Amino acid sequence: MYDTDVLIVGAGPSGLTLAASLVKNGVATTVVDRQTAGANTSRAAVVNARTLEVLEDLDVARRLVKEGIQAPRFSIRDRARTLIPIDFSELPTDYPYSLMVPQATTERLLLDRLTELGGTVIRPKTLTAVMQDADGVTATFDDGDVIRARYVVGADGIHSTVREQAGIGFEGGAYQESFTLADVRLRGEAPVDEVILFWAKAGLTVVAPLPGGIHRIVAPVTEAPEEPSAPFIQQLLDDRGSGAGRMVVTDVIWGSRFRIHHRVADTYRAGRLLLVGDAAHVHSPAGGQGMNLGIQDGVALADALAGVLAGEPDSMLDDYSAARRPIALQVVEMTDRLTRLATLPRAARPIRNIAIGIAGRIPAVRRALATRLSGLVYR
Ligand SMILES: Cc1cc2nc3c(=O)[nH]c(=O)nc-3n(C[C@H](O)[C@H](O)[C@H](O)COP(=O)(O)OP(=O)(O)OC[C@H]3O[C@@H](n4cnc5c(N)ncnc54)[C@H](O)[C@@H]3O)c2cc1C
Repeated sequence: MYDTDVLIVGAGPSGLTLAASLVKNGVATTVVDRQTAGANTSRAAVVNARTLEVLEDLDVARRLVKEGIQAPRFSIRDRARTLIPIDFSELPTDYPYSLMVPQATTERLLLDRLTELGGTVIRPKTLTAVMQDADGVTATFDDGDVIRARYVVGADGIHSTVREQAGIGFEGGAYQESFTLADVRLRGEAPVDEVILFWAKAGLTVVAPLPGGIHRIVAPVTEAPEEPSAPFIQQLLDDRGSGAGRMVVTDVIWGSRFRIHHRVADTYRAGRLLLVGDAAHVHSPAGGQGMNLGIQDGVALADALAGVLAGEPDSMLDDYSAARRPIALQVVEMTDRLTRLATLPRAARPIRNIAIGIAGRIPAVRRALATRLSGLVYR
């Protein structure tokens, strides 16, 4: 006897995407999350073209586009000088831009869609253990409840209980620097349809537009404050942006700090236990890929699970792991390279900028970067 076909642990963007896609395919699905309510902070701010493409079938792409800002350009700059201008507008997709939208909005739209399709999230409910046998999985919760499912998916983030219970390794490490992150109001030369990555001598800083006249600032710093203040962000922009006083911070709406790991699970499947999203891979936010990969995992796993439950070969689940894991490895490598280049010792930075400036004049290099950042390379 099964309580459900698929139990999804975690209702972040990866779990919600998987859940809505399964419910749409008529699969009996149960979603649980340990938080009383969904997170309401902005966190991942970029939805890329490939993610919008895979969310079309779920009818979520259209809703996201309505709520986000389209940024068709991404540039890497040293002060006011552009080293690499990346143009998404000529990419072969219906979404030739980065869509700038706070993660809380993305999660709300995914949850709305799940609810519309007849699904729900049970919360707060914390998974404590899973035990699998030949026919299914028995999941135990902190309230003593037990759920029997054919498959259990860990969409439960970086500290995944499902991954730990499955005994799946999570190789990698952590970067030394912490990142500061703030959503601010700016006066002056703030970009309206472009994401700017400043590679200043003092270190990297990203400035990106968000809906509602807000800008996202992200920067690696030696010791990030718990809640960055307006003077702290102002100093960052003066030291690393296009020139002192060119962008003036008038208000900090939300701020946070985070440490970054680079890790990929040894496999995304151990029998009837499967992984998606941050439970399977974490990496630097350089390039804004984290949440995008998780959503794309969710769509791919929904296809595989729906197929297997409809009688197709079980090997489809191995194929899911075999197809998605190398993509995470590539993203970890790309974001690692970007992060290391951006955090080079000061003495090496002028040479780096000259080399990048030369590479940035080559159209093929710019196009390759656009294809990678937009996720279209993983089609
Ligand atoms: C401050 C901050 C800033 C970030 N900024 C960026 C950024 O700029 N760009 C970017 O790409 N990414 C960023 N990220 C990362 C991004 O938020 C994640 O990649 C994304 O949330 C991953 O989605 P997910 O659904 O896989 O996991 P999560 O969003 O982590 O969701 C996991 C869910 O599982 C639940 N859960 C965990 N354990 C259990 C359990 N035992 N039982 C039940 N439920 C459980 C949690 O409550 C949570 O809701 C940021 C993250 C943080 C924290």
